[in-house]
Amino acid sequence: MEAAAAEDCCVKVAVHVRPLIGDEKLQGCKDCVTVTPGKPQVQIGAHSFTFDHVYGSTASPPSSMFEECIVPLVDGLFQGYNATVLAYGQTGSGKTYTMGTGFKDGCQTGIIPQVMNALFTKIESLKHQIDFQLHVSFIEILKEEVRDLLDPTSLNKSDATSPNAGKVHVPGKPPIQIRESANGAITLAGSTEISVSTLKEMAACLEQGSLSRATGSTNMNNQSSRSHAIFTITLEQMLS
Ligand code: ADP
Ligand code: MG
Repeated sequence: MEAAAAEDCCVKVAVHVRPLIGDEKLQGCKDCVTVTPGKPQVQIGAHSFTFDHVYGSTASPPSSMFEECIVPLVDGLFQGYNATVLAYGQTGSGKTYTMGTGFKDGCQTGIIPQVMNALFTKIESLKHQIDFQLHVSFIEILKEEVRDLLDPTSLNKSDATSPNAGKVHVPGKPPIQIRESANGAITLAGSTEISVSTLKEMAACLEQGSLSRATGSTNMNNQSSRSHAIFTITLEQMLS
């Protein structure tokens, strides 16, 4: 199908424009991005940038992001494909909000909670034919250091308000090593993988890890807020 060639590109880029938030409104800030009507395009000053999708502001409603961008990836998992959803942007631009790893807003609308719902709905519908085994891991990269957000031995020991929280190491537990194997696969040696069998268990992992991130809140001038969180779900089909 030639017409589908562009559609089938394996990397898609969507922009999520967030509204101005409290402080910005108080300071009288103005939106710096405008959406070109009817196109997946934004304008900043004299420059136009075109993407696969634009959500928020006067573009498509953010609620359609999941159906359009993520559902095909979740379906792909059941056909043996891997998928990665990456949020990229300046501190404060809404990555945590969009991914759904910031529990301070009590939000369940982010991408990861929705992926979890979709996964378990699908597993439920297949349960008479196929058994699945699920694992999750959740890590944070802060400068050169990789922290295990699901490490049971460091639970409750990280003080989220301390600027050095990311540097706390529990004695006896070596830091996670990023390794490349002979076939080029990148692995994280020593990160906790938790086996989960219910939505509730998986949601608990997301919540627990989100809370132990060194920097839950966003402060654009805070160097230590520049950390990257990676939540990984592994779906394995069990042979019966
Ligand atoms: P980042 O993770 O990129 O540093 P955050 O996700 O922490 O940014 O977002 C910064 C602030 O903006 C947070 O207070 C968050 O609740 C708010 N925010 C982000 N995106 C939206 C959105 N689409 N709608 C409303 N508030 C948002
Ligand atoms: Mg963030």
